[in-house]
Amino acid sequence: MSIDLLKEWQNRLCLQDWRIVMQENCEPDDMFLPGCAGATEWEESIKTAVIQIIDPKFYGTRILPFDFEKTLVHELLHLKLSLVSDKVDDLQERYMHQMIDDLARALVDAKRNYQKVTDE
Ligand SMILES: [Zn+2]
Repeated sequence: MSIDLLKEWQNRLCLQDWRIVMQENCEPDDMFLPGCAGATEWEESIKTAVIQIIDPKFYGTRILPFDFEKTLVHELLHLKLSLVSDKVDDLQERYMHQMIDDLARALVDAKRNYQKVTDE
């Protein structure tokens, strides 16, 4: 199911030519970045990436509930924007991360709202 979601969003975001390994149900200590629900390491020149998503049981109590799909889309958007996100400066990187999260939420909400309308 999660691999289907990966394929679905890879297609939707035109990232079909990326070879992506998804690691689900990660332990916090195994994540590339501490304290994150999702993390990605990528190699833009050869279009490969490893996407990690935390095991929900380690997500903890946060304002926003755990959302696998939204986290996945967030990480894929990092790949989509990898060429303009070169970790050149910290402020730009933080802004990029915030913008990506807004976009991921908007896209996933749009998909779910569309499904609601078409299911009726
Ligand atoms: Zn991010």
